[in-house]
Amino acid sequence: MGSQTPLPHIFLVCFPAQGHINPMLRLGKRLASKGMLVSFSTTENYGKEMRKANDGISDQPTPVGNGFIRFEFFDDGLAEDDPKFSKLDEYMPLLELVGMDLVTQMIKRHANEGRPVSCLVNNPFIPWVCDVAAELGIPRATLWIQSCAVFSAYYHCHNKMVPFPTEAEPIIDIQLPGMPVLKHDEIPSFLLPSDPFQVLGRAILGQFKKLSKSLYVLMDTFQELEPEIIEHMSQVCIVKPVGPLFKNPKAPKTSIGGDLMKADDCFEWLDSKPPTSVVYISFGSIVHLKQEQVDEIAHGLLSSGVSFLWAMKPPGKAFGTEKHVLPDGFLENVGDKGKVVQWSPQEQVLAHPSVACFLTHCGWNSSVEALTSGVPLVTFPQWGDQVTNSKFLVDVFGVGLRLCRGRAENRLITRDEVAKCLLEATVGEKANELKQNALKWKKAAEEAVAEGGSSDRSLEDFIDEISKITYVS
Ligand code: UDP
Repeated sequence: MGSQTPLPHIFLVCFPAQGHINPMLRLGKRLASKGMLVSFSTTENYGKEMRKANDGISDQPTPVGNGFIRFEFFDDGLAEDDPKFSKLDEYMPLLELVGMDLVTQMIKRHANEGRPVSCLVNNPFIPWVCDVAAELGIPRATLWIQSCAVFSAYYHCHNKMVPFPTEAEPIIDIQLPGMPVLKHDEIPSFLLPSDPFQVLGRAILGQFKKLSKSLYVLMDTFQELEPEIIEHMSQVCIVKPVGPLFKNPKAPKTSIGGDLMKADDCFEWLDSKPPTSVVYISFGSIVHLKQEQVDEIAHGLLSSGVSFLWAMKPPGKAFGTEKHVLPDGFLENVGDKGKVVQWSPQEQVLAHPSVACFLTHCGWNSSVEALTSGVPLVTFPQWGDQVTNSKFLVDVFGVGLRLCRGRAENRLITRDEVAKCLLEATVGEKANELKQNALKWKKAAEEAVAEGGSSDRSLEDFIDEISKITYVS
């Protein structure tokens, strides 16, 4: 790598899911651009997909800004369509068993080959990485990939510090420090006693058992977005808001990406549309709406007459769900007003001047990408943190219109509701108000990640700490 002193080496271990890979890889590129050697690791099945869909996924260090990034995957022993992968209560222990051993071997090998690891970083669902670090005597940090508000909700629930809904009392309001009252269906749904995905709640809460005052928790949020909540949670661990991670002023043009599918070309079509005229639609990488709901959205789009770009991802092989179909004659009726793709280059789509608003499931990545690209949102959350993000986007950040409250509502959102909400979000007074607020957040986010901004300083502090450890050892 042409350098005399070895660069501090940060090893990132990532849970295999698109919504985890994106922020972790973005963190990796930000750290690399500031002069670190970064190794990014997840399972081999996902590594294979990443290699197919992106350039630059190499085991050799590739320059990014002032540093380097390289990739090293480990085999979880499952075929890519193994149904175990979709049954998280079976997959999590398996991943832990295999991962602890293989990650330990990788870290030891780097030390033997003269590239000792200075810090091991994990993201949610794989708290065992912290145990690997402790066992090997290596500093550790966690990348929290949701909002600080959601971090606080899990923390307070885990430590039983405020009453949360129970089977006996399912419908209560929740008051957490520094945030508005949350209704029972506005807390992360995995915490509800009735939720079918409680295994995910348990997997996330596993991380909270490892929290300590000395643990660095890097977060894909920024100081100006959640000031009081960040201040409060900083009493619990070392909260470092470093987001939005997808903005990387030091290496804006790196082509290294974490997509698991090749993105379809959308730009010729977007370029042909007037400014602020297109509704972009995506429900992320996992949410699978009922077919009837997709029908209602399609009819709502038609009757609203808005132009739209719809990223309709086919379900993952291991999940056994049916691919959505569009109503008969839909595409013919829509003509050039609409475009349907399987996977979009979302970051760039949201930055395109033709995009007016984003109909989204409110995953945190999508929420932050839109908010800090100056794009208002129509919120259609389903579960997990999506319902809390929707609450904040609408009632706190002032950039969203709520179309759905979440799966717990158990109701079909009708075509009329869809059409009305999309029109309100794209033209008129409310649309203008949402746009102005989104532009304010875009500016605040750009300042946060610029040199000397709040997120930049947070990352520098973290790097200083890591570098000190490297030179002492
Ligand atoms: N994404 C994309 N193209 C698409 C749909 C999604 O690039 O067509 C990206 C999006 O930019 C985001 C991630 O996939 O970074 C989805 O993460 P999010 O937290 O929003 O939702 P999840 O998929 O985890 O539910």
